[in-house]
Amino acid sequence: MKKIIIGFACLATLIFGGYQRVDASSELAFTKPPLPYAYDALEPYIDAKTMEIHYTKHHQAYTDKLNALIPGHERFFKGKTIEAILSEPDQIPAEIRQGVIDQGGGFANHNLFWRILSPNGGGQPTGVLAEAITCHFDTFDTFKETLNKELTSLFGSGWAWLVVNEDQQLEIIKTANQDSPLSLGKTPILGIDVWEHAYYLKYQNRRPEYIDAIWNVINWDEVSKRYEEAIK
Ligand code: MN
Repeated sequence: MKKIIIGFACLATLIFGGYQRVDASSELAFTKPPLPYAYDALEPYIDAKTMEIHYTKHHQAYTDKLNALIPGHERFFKGKTIEAILSEPDQIPAEIRQGVIDQGGGFANHNLFWRILSPNGGGQPTGVLAEAITCHFDTFDTFKETLNKELTSLFGSGWAWLVVNEDQQLEIIKTANQDSPLSLGKTPILGIDVWEHAYYLKYQNRRPEYIDAIWNVINWDEVSKRYEEAIK
């Protein structure tokens, strides 16, 4: 009996071995960067419980499900960043394309989201980004109102973004689900998550209150850095 069980285990390994989930120890696996601050660092604007669940459950789930798409497609993923992959969605193998757009988008979008928030954030940008915002939107307040309007009016789950577009200009766009601006040829420099999981514990159905609050923790130094990278 023991022999039969061992024999079956070997057979199963042979059959299913190539289709095992890629775990974090695999060299191709994507891993979430550590959260750059404590779960409660953005209180009272974003509560600790929401941060913890958002980072350890939601972001982790996108990461795990993205990694689960790798087996059988190692050659495609090898040596590519998620940003490079999302920038050329047509190049993603057809059978995993939508999965990579959804899960890879979720992985990349949240990597950016944690970085553009900070307990020392808020206020207004300075330097070249401030100049570009004033040049493009007239005033910082007009920019803020425009972005707020997109965030409030977004139906269902998605994100609103400040991007650098194909013409190297600032632009505000929104995307549904976890679709990345990279897939539209635009570089995101600021993204606001308006999935309910980003605010529901504290704000329930009051999305506009969450949107008002998040301006207090925007990390303008990081957004500026990404702007300067994008226009290089
Ligand atoms: Mn989210």
